[in-house]
Amino acid sequence: MNAINHAATALIINKKWPGVPIVPVLLSVQLVEFLWVVFNLLGIEVTTTELQVRALNDIHLAYMPYSHSIAATVVLAFTVWVVVAKLFEKPIWGLALAVAVSSHIALDLATHVHDIAIAPGIESPKFGSGLYGVPLLALVVETIYGVWCWWVFRGSRALLAVIVLFNLAALSFYSPSIHGPEYLLAGRPRIFAALIGMHIIAGLVAVGYFARSQWRDAASAGSYRAV
Ligand SMILES: [Zn+2]
Repeated sequence: MNAINHAATALIINKKWPGVPIVPVLLSVQLVEFLWVVFNLLGIEVTTTELQVRALNDIHLAYMPYSHSIAATVVLAFTVWVVVAKLFEKPIWGLALAVAVSSHIALDLATHVHDIAIAPGIESPKFGSGLYGVPLLALVVETIYGVWCWWVFRGSRALLAVIVLFNLAALSFYSPSIHGPEYLLAGRPRIFAALIGMHIIAGLVAVGYFARSQWRDAASAGSYRAV
């Protein structure tokens, strides 16, 4: 899923648990993807491309069981919960952050082709709705999801514009007939991973910045509930 829509999930988490600090929430919704970037850059996980990349369905997330498998996410979310809820004695924070971590794989399962394994070492079956097999439809669905997050959060118009513009900016990646920078990624999966890393950070910063006044309001409103 496009980074901005994962980032928008933090709006939902914040609405549900307003006392939980937003920076760890933002980092948690993309923790799985940060791991994917690092593992790809290190060669631990593998991405391949077609000889020509016309849209994101020409890029294949061939091997990513450590970042994007169901078991890896369960372990990661549980670890986050143990550390935050037990070690730091913040049970509500722990729950919210574990849900934020888990949201990533739930959204990827709802959009990816069949590329998400059950666990490392289990090659098949792999899961995914297959939506990314029809990229333009995926873009529409993703954008609706991002806007829904904004609507639930009751965000500003600027925040709405940011979510929509980030999605529109990725249009060429979602349409084989629209030429864009994705052509340059053929045979360069590590550059793709590095770009995704930058895209993640840009999406998180954009959502964090354009919702900043409401984060503060929410934090003060919910602080008494979050202890
Ligand atoms: Zn992902």
